Amino acid sequence: MVNRSHTYRTRAVILRRRSYSDADRILTVFTPRLGKRVLIAKGARKTTSRKAGHLELFSHANLLVAQARTWDIVTETVTVESFLNLRTNLDGISRAAYICELVDAFTAEDDENEALWELLLLCLRELNALPESAPQHDLLLRWFELHLLFQMGFQPELFACLGCGEDLRPVLNFLHLHAGGVFCPDCGRAQKGAEPITAQTLKILRHLARTQWESLRELRLGQSTALAVESVQQRYLVTVLERRLKSADFIFRLRQSSGTDDGAASNEAESSVDGLDNPPSPANPSYKATP
Ligand SMILES: [Zn+2]
Repeated sequence: MVNRSHTYRTRAVILRRRSYSDADRILTVFTPRLGKRVLIAKGARKTTSRKAGHLELFSHANLLVAQARTWDIVTETVTVESFLNLRTNLDGISRAAYICELVDAFTAEDDENEALWELLLLCLRELNALPESAPQHDLLLRWFELHLLFQMGFQPELFACLGCGEDLRPVLNFLHLHAGGVFCPDCGRAQKGAEPITAQTLKILRHLARTQWESLRELRLGQSTALAVESVQQRYLVTVLERRLKSADFIFRLRQSSGTDDGAASNEAESSVDGLDNPPSPANPSYKATP
């Protein structure tokens, strides 16, 4: 029997799981108050296990956990949200896998980050709610990437020049991935490894960084802008993490095999995005959705 004084309850999203011994699973989960944890679910791979159905990847569960010497042991689970819709197609699964892999890659065990927990849940709920053919999926991933970077203290500097500190103007500036941001034309020209970044790409990056998702749902990017933003963010993530994520490559391959880059140009919507002359984003974005 489990000694109740050494148990704790937590909500958790299952980020990763792997088989262990004949019947067990090792789970990497993210929680609101305990950060990332590695737990063991004994007997979870047996088809008769009452736990098995509640430990699906990406699901949001309520766990009762017993403290143990190596991995704490999951003793009871109740599913809070299973996100069934996003499991019905390969695109949905790959996007959820990507979000979870990013959270896993950027966090250390036991580092509490409640804002990141809220961000993760918000994105899983949104992916689950969006129709499969909705155009917002890619934008949601870009928004998630930037806000994850912000939460982990890696957000690129998009508002003031990394060299002279002056506010960046809506001209051709210079992006420096390893330096973590943008230089003005005067400072950027002298920087080794800097690359030009258009005013339009910078404008969209800034808009994503300082806007809550609810206000972005209607935004439609033209194909070239969407690809430019994706390219900057993907390469920046690789620079920060010093590796590519498996699920990012998988999304790219899926897109290539389907041959659809549904970026119907809509520069009108893009141009309605606030220009470069706006004040920087609020310091502490909140992702509060329903609890
Ligand atoms: Zn400068």
